[in-house]
Amino acid sequence: MLKEKSILKFMKIFPTKKIGIDLGTSSSLVYVAKEGIVYNQPSLVTLNKKTGQLVAFGYEAQKMVGRTPAHLSVVKPLVGGVISDFEIAQQLLKYFLDQLREKSFLFARFFVALSIPCGVTEVEKKAVEDATKDAGASRVFLIEEPIAAALGARLPIKEAKGFMVVDIGGGTSEIAVISLGGIVNYKSLRIAGDKMDSEIINYISEEYKVLIGQPTAEELKKTIGSVYGKFSDLPDSMLIKGRDLFSGLPKEIEVFSKDVRRAIERPVSQIIESVKNVIEETPPELVADIMKNGIFLSGGGSLLRGIDQLLEKETGVKTIIVNDPLTAVVRGTGILIENQDNLEELGIKI
Ligand code: ADP
Ligand code: MG
Repeated sequence: MLKEKSILKFMKIFPTKKIGIDLGTSSSLVYVAKEGIVYNQPSLVTLNKKTGQLVAFGYEAQKMVGRTPAHLSVVKPLVGGVISDFEIAQQLLKYFLDQLREKSFLFARFFVALSIPCGVTEVEKKAVEDATKDAGASRVFLIEEPIAAALGARLPIKEAKGFMVVDIGGGTSEIAVISLGGIVNYKSLRIAGDKMDSEIINYISEEYKVLIGQPTAEELKKTIGSVYGKFSDLPDSMLIKGRDLFSGLPKEIEVFSKDVRRAIERPVSQIIESVKNVIEETPPELVADIMKNGIFLSGGGSLLRGIDQLLEKETGVKTIIVNDPLTAVVRGTGILIENQDNLEELGIKI
């Protein structure tokens, strides 16, 4: 016991590296205090099924999609915004920390602030915390994604004022009302960018009798996709390649902007309906604040053309896309770890 204590005391003389991690369904980002974002890659890993080890991460794993031999497979550690395989997620976290360890002092200790979706149960939280600790973190703090996004957008969330944040990611859309630094009301939907991609795949197969893959669907969404209004900078159509459902042979087709809009109409309206529901359930004082401050949109889904205007039209509340919406969450974890007052307020001593 005494020995353990003295080891702990000994370890404390080594510097603590403060790290923020956003393990998203689509992208993983790592922020190091005073350095900024050091990693921003797709949430993909290549697994060696024989050994259980991960052999490639991020872009390197992405290059292997559809090209792996039988013993390797490219997997997403997160499905629907939640960790689908803890062992894999833990190996991914370990990879991040090992890389940082290589660049720092061998005995460096890590304090990790990790963003999680709202509505994660206590059991799930404990599992995520344990996975992060087993990956090498000496201390872990979990922060809800909308709070991190709001911090990243530099909203004064500690004040007694209501703010509404809508983060549309790959697997989940998080809708939250924040006041006094905490979440007052929220809804976490498993309908977001990935669902839009699968609706595009379904639409193209029904209307054009052509099967396309997820990367093509995503490209259509990003290149010619919009949900409201007209955009002069947006091409009206795009040529894509897929597989003819009848002949089984490759086929090139021209897909139009209006096809994409129709295809993604349902998931988009489901997200908007949920925003309306959250507003309806919010206490009147906070609704008044939201009317005044607006709705803040973050995540990759906020880049979908016209989504801000549509949300504004449907809710009657001014809607603002935060700066650099893809990195807002991880920059928020960065603001948390870099500010000693924030940490003290949370009772975290480093
Ligand atoms: P996560 O937090 O789940 O990793 P992100 O916030 O990185 O997700 O957002 C990823 C989602 O945003 C994907 O579904 C992606 O297709 C979508 N996305 C990214 N850029 C655009 C764009 N320009 N237009 C429409 N959707 C986009
Ligand atoms: Mg996210």
